[in-house]
Amino acid sequence: MIQKVLTKLEDRNRNLQLITKAFEFAKKAHDGQLRMGGEPYITHPVSVAEILCNLKLDSATIAAGILHDTVEDTGVTEKDIEKNFGKDVAFLVRGVTKLANIEYKDQPEVKQNLHAQSLRKMFFAMAEDIRVILIKLADRYHNMQTIKDLPPDRRKRISLETLDIYGPIAERLGMGHMKGELEDMAFPHAYPEEYDKFVRLAKEKYIDRQKYLQKTQPIVTEKLKSGGIKIVNAHSRAKHYFSLYKKFVKHDRDLSRVYDLVALRIILPDIPSCYGALGIIHKNYKPLPGLIKDYVAMPKLNGYQSIHTTIFCEQNKILEIQLRTPEMHEHAENGIAAHWSYGESNKNKLHAADLKEAQWVAQLKKWMENSDDQEFYKSLHTNFFSDRVFVFTPDGEIKDLPDESTPLDFAYAVHTDLGHATKGAKVNGKLVTLDYKLKSGQMVEIVKAKTAKPSANWLSIVKSSEAKKRILSWFRQNNSDVVAKLEKNDRQPFRISVTVKDKIGTLEEIGRIMRNLKINITEIKHSPPIGGLAEIKMTLALKKQGLEQKVIQKLISNKRVLSARKLV
Ligand code: MN
Repeated sequence: MIQKVLTKLEDRNRNLQLITKAFEFAKKAHDGQLRMGGEPYITHPVSVAEILCNLKLDSATIAAGILHDTVEDTGVTEKDIEKNFGKDVAFLVRGVTKLANIEYKDQPEVKQNLHAQSLRKMFFAMAEDIRVILIKLADRYHNMQTIKDLPPDRRKRISLETLDIYGPIAERLGMGHMKGELEDMAFPHAYPEEYDKFVRLAKEKYIDRQKYLQKTQPIVTEKLKSGGIKIVNAHSRAKHYFSLYKKFVKHDRDLSRVYDLVALRIILPDIPSCYGALGIIHKNYKPLPGLIKDYVAMPKLNGYQSIHTTIFCEQNKILEIQLRTPEMHEHAENGIAAHWSYGESNKNKLHAADLKEAQWVAQLKKWMENSDDQEFYKSLHTNFFSDRVFVFTPDGEIKDLPDESTPLDFAYAVHTDLGHATKGAKVNGKLVTLDYKLKSGQMVEIVKAKTAKPSANWLSIVKSSEAKKRILSWFRQNNSDVVAKLEKNDRQPFRISVTVKDKIGTLEEIGRIMRNLKINITEIKHSPPIGGLAEIKMTLALKKQGLEQKVIQKLISNKRVLSARKLV
């Protein structure tokens, strides 16, 4: 069984011994267990390993893929794994086991979106190494492949989860192929009626288009060749059903407006050839205005690159053409996995801090950008996976809190009244102190008492500005002495608006300026850029009076900063 994986790896300088050993170990551990379809359980981890192997991942990841369910589902412990397979493999298995307990809950529709978003972020926060997420994706991929063995209600739940969580994660990582396949496997089970209707509608048109393309492709490539363009490969690309369906819904359910049902994809040796080909295509066929997309000059957030154009092609029919190099193609299919599939070096550990330059990191940063204010700022210059904790309420709702948050932060995040009435807290069922530092994945329960009320030292315990604000406002109403005392020690915050050139690293640069001045940023917000300029609003905690002018001077002397002004 494992032979298939080993054969694939033979020419790749992988540690076959480690992988074979992992197989023997897992086989023994899962002995007697069966999959829902009746086959021996070991078929599952081996399939997961094969998927990881197709993604050209390193030996440790493949071995961890084989072992990924042993700690969760058998008597094997993390220590056993470490003893037999070393720290790296054990670290990955532990990561996967940790993520196994994150559950997708059906929520009312309004909350569902938020919930899914938090879960996706939680995945990144908890998986300290991206390889852990890749194992989870491979795990899900194989579970989707065998989903027919499950009862219908579980099929539906797991498929919805795949569409809400795993598809978008694969997309964020630029793994177009993985994303498309996961979604297409989930679509019929998640939305059976919609799926049937849509496939019936699209199928005929699909076949028509495919036929048309078979005739058209040689005509187009011939024109390119006679124009002196070398072609590596040309093929028609059928769009994945689920992404087509989403487009279809977007276009008021009018399939005739979805032009890229089937697109012609042309792989060219280099970037100049891509633009050369575009020129020749546009000389021969009129492009549709507004549909030329140059993702080579402006890659998508997940690093995707290609030139897309939609033209009136042969017989005046509308056709989308995609132009890209082999490297862009590899990235579009495998995304992040394509980045370190090169060898077995020690550097292939994808700890966030090591890979600041990598493209996909920039894209994750962008993603984190959507999470708000000061936490976003922190996320840029520290380890941006570990600046949030994600914890559960007893109802399975997720609360997204700043790192080092305490049960008090949690209580206030649930409800102000709960915060005020907090007497104690339980984490995963055990009593903890109120200054306990929460960790992602924990379940938090607040013990409240009618007689409980905020105490002044809570202000130094809580981490989130939200909780602080609420405690202060309670004191303002109930015990103004405390507030007066506090305000005497606290200077007025200094609010400032800075206009900057929208460039990667600008926020980090501003952070650096403030650090050099030993000034804390208590809040930072940044509005979407317009015409290459962006506005950053900050609240600064100035320890000394008279620093305001110095801050403004320092800022405007930086070449990325166009202006800085005090806000009142
Ligand atoms: Mn599994």
